[in-house]
Amino acid sequence: MKAVQYREIGKGPEVVEIDTPEPEPGQIRLRVTAAGLCHSDWFVMDLPADQYIYGLPLTLGHEGAGVVDKLGDGVEGIEVGGAYAVYGPWGCGQCRACAEGRENYCTRAAELGIAPPGLGAPGAMAEYLIVDDARHLVPLGDLDPVQTVSLTDAGLTPYHAIKAAQQKLFPGSVAVVIGAGGLGHVGIQILRATTAATVIAVDLNEEKLALAAEVGAHHTVLAGPEAAEKIRELTGGAGAEAVFDFVGAQPTIDTARAVVAVDGYVSIVGIGGGLMPTGFFSTPFGVSVRAPYWGSRSELIEVLDLARSGAITVHTERFGIDDAVSAYEKLHAGTVRGRAVVTP
Ligand code: NAD
Ligand code: ZN
Ligand code: ZN
Repeated sequence: MKAVQYREIGKGPEVVEIDTPEPEPGQIRLRVTAAGLCHSDWFVMDLPADQYIYGLPLTLGHEGAGVVDKLGDGVEGIEVGGAYAVYGPWGCGQCRACAEGRENYCTRAAELGIAPPGLGAPGAMAEYLIVDDARHLVPLGDLDPVQTVSLTDAGLTPYHAIKAAQQKLFPGSVAVVIGAGGLGHVGIQILRATTAATVIAVDLNEEKLALAAEVGAHHTVLAGPEAAEKIRELTGGAGAEAVFDFVGAQPTIDTARAVVAVDGYVSIVGIGGGLMPTGFFSTPFGVSVRAPYWGSRSELIEVLDLARSGAITVHTERFGIDDAVSAYEKLHAGTVRGRAVVTP
C-alpha cells in the first residue's frame, strides 16, 4: 500500500510503498478515506535526533477516518463496511482517566509504550490503518469523511480547551484566539457556537485573518508588538477573560499575558516552545494558565454532533496521497487555508 512516511531525521515526508498491515486479535483494519495534516507533524519532523522519540520509519497522520475493512479475531460490535472517525490519543483503557474517556490524560500510556497513530504507532496517512481497539472508533454516520476528519484533532483540541474555560466565557466576555490556522479557525467557530463571548482573532497573516472573520470572529488583529494594545482597546481596557494561544511561541505567549483580564484564563495549546511566567507578580490577580492536550472520547462525540448540527465547518484543502509532500510543504510555508486533508 501507499503510505506517507517520515523515514530519516531532517529529511521531511516521503510517499512510499509498504506492506499492507494485517489486524491482530482485537484490532480493526480501516481502509482510510481521509487523513489530516497537523502542524504537530512538523514539530515531530523538526526534532533533532537526540530528542526524537517516535520511531523510524513513522507513518504520519494522527487525524484519521476510514471504513472498516477487516476485523482481527475477537472484535465484536463493529461491522465491516462501517464508516468511522478515529479517536487518536490512545491510552491504556484501564486507568482512572481512561475510565472517564479522557485517554488523552492516560497515566500509563508512556510506561506501556502506547502511542497515538502517526505519533509513534503507524498513522492514517496510508491506504490502510490499524486501530488497536474498537473503543477508538466513533461512528461518522452521514458526515463526509474529508470534511470531518480534522475534527478528530483540529476540532477536538480547541473544543477541549474551550470547554475547560466555559466558566469564564459568560455573555459580555471576550475570548482571544491567537493563530487562525487549522485549530484556530475551528476554535473560533466552537466559541461562537457554544458561548456568547466576543471573539478577537490574532494572526500574522492577513489571509488567515480574513478566514477568521469569515468563520465568525468579531474582530481581527494583526500579530505584532502593537497587537496587545489593540486588543486592550477593543476590550475597553479590561482585557480578555480567556485567551487561547494556538501558536505557543514566546511572542504569542507574551501577547496572551499582556491581554488577559483579572481572574482570566490562558490556554496554551500551541507547542511553539514559549514559556508563560506564573507567579503572584507575573499576571493579573487570579489568572489561570493551562496547557491542554488533545481531548476526550466524549468530547469527540460532541464535536462531531456540533458539525452534524451545522454549527462548525472545517475549511479543507484536499490533496491526493501522491501530493502529500506538497501538502506538507504548504503547511510548512503557512499557506494552507484551514486544514489540509489527504485522501489515499
Ligand atoms: P497551523 O499551521 O494550521 O496554524 C497556525 C497559525 O498560526 C497560522 O495561521 C499562522 O499564520 C499563525 N501564526 C504563526 N505564528 C504566529 C505568531 N507569531 N502570531 C500569530 N499567529 C501566528 O497549525 P495547527 O495545525 O493549527 O497547530 C497549531 C499549534 O497547535 C501547533 O503548535 C501544533 O503543534 C499545536 N497542537 C497542539 C495540540 C495539543 O494537544 N496541545 C494539538 C494539535 C496541535
Ligand atoms: Zn495534531
Ligand atoms: Zn489509561
